[in-house]
Amino acid sequence: MRTNKSYVKLTEKFSARNYHPLPVVLTKGKGVWVWDVEGNKYLDMLSAYSALNQGHCHPHIAKAIKNQATKITLTSRAFHNDQMGLFLKKLCTVTGYEKALPMNSGAEAVETAIKVARKWGYRKKKVTKNRAEIIVCENNFHGRTTTIVGFSSESQYRDGFGSFTPGFKMIPYNKPRALARAIRKNTVAFLFEPIQGEGGVIVPDKGYLKECQRICRKYGILLIADEIQTGLGRAGKLFACDYEKVRPDIVIVGKALSGGYYPVSAILCDNRIMSVLHPGDHGSTFGGNPLASAISIAALQVIVKERLPQRAYRLGTWFMNELRKIDSPIIKEVRGKGLLIGVELKKKARKYCERLMKLGILAKETHEMVVRFAPPLVIKKKELQWALARIKKVLHV
Ligand SMILES: *Cc1c(COP(=O)(O)O)cnc(C)c1O
Repeated sequence: MRTNKSYVKLTEKFSARNYHPLPVVLTKGKGVWVWDVEGNKYLDMLSAYSALNQGHCHPHIAKAIKNQATKITLTSRAFHNDQMGLFLKKLCTVTGYEKALPMNSGAEAVETAIKVARKWGYRKKKVTKNRAEIIVCENNFHGRTTTIVGFSSESQYRDGFGSFTPGFKMIPYNKPRALARAIRKNTVAFLFEPIQGEGGVIVPDKGYLKECQRICRKYGILLIADEIQTGLGRAGKLFACDYEKVRPDIVIVGKALSGGYYPVSAILCDNRIMSVLHPGDHGSTFGGNPLASAISIAALQVIVKERLPQRAYRLGTWFMNELRKIDSPIIKEVRGKGLLIGVELKKKARKYCERLMKLGILAKETHEMVVRFAPPLVIKKKELQWALARIKKVLHV
């Protein structure tokens, strides 16, 4: 009785109803392809919200996890392990930062960045005790902890979960002047996404990132880029901030940092900022564990060796142009960078995602009206062509 329906029923019986997934039960993945329990094959165009830039079950990462799984998997940070240093060196070398602090989920890394920024503010910028303020953007998505949803503008993310952490100020996205106006003497940082992924693939105007960097430097506050979704090649560069040669003071990474094998996240910054942390200030039982570290080394090797940012740039530019050529009365806008592409419809997107699924494409709506196309970056042009033919069919109504 291996039917999609039976597994959905089982899952619904025992799980919290905090998601509304498409009714497909996946059991196998390889590269850009996944299979459901009934043997149907699909092209994965979501990549677990960009955690699978390297594709499903990449053999190089699989080898690393198998090898490490029988050696040592967890030491806690009470002791050193022989993988974490190698992982952080690789991460710092690839990204050009002096220090990295490993965590697990993306939200945890965001929390880490918030803590480091606040402590930096008290110790280095000398802001008033317990009055540090961080500026964030409307329509942001940074995760689901109570602190983070507290500064979300999405009412469903907040409703029923208060009370919230104070010390955040919200400004409109893509408005550098709003940033300049919002800065006060206790402001310590500006936290932003270089492209708002969950917010509907919102790409800010050219020059926005650079101007934000200029303002932050002028007022002596930290520029913190959440590149959990946009980074590690997804948007066609190693980081989306690279488009404007912006070097944030803190970069937050996660998702593809482990190539879909394991929750691994980190913050990156230079020693002048990371040095505010002292033993006991912050921690995580699993952060930097040897299994995660070995996996992430391999995941980073794949990104570099297979030139995934360059692939995403080349194929994404081509694919987005093809999508823009589709003459459909229900398409409002096609936007994005690299292989992070949003097609905004004039109608609710869920129904179209369900139709795509029937034709063998898994994509998910975000913000009701937007279909996000974000396949693994290892995708081939002919696979994108295959997808395009089906997308055209679904959108030509
Ligand atoms: C997914 C995401 C997060 C949260 O990551 P989790 O691993 O789900 O906690 C934070 N910021 C951005 C931009 C994301 O896309």
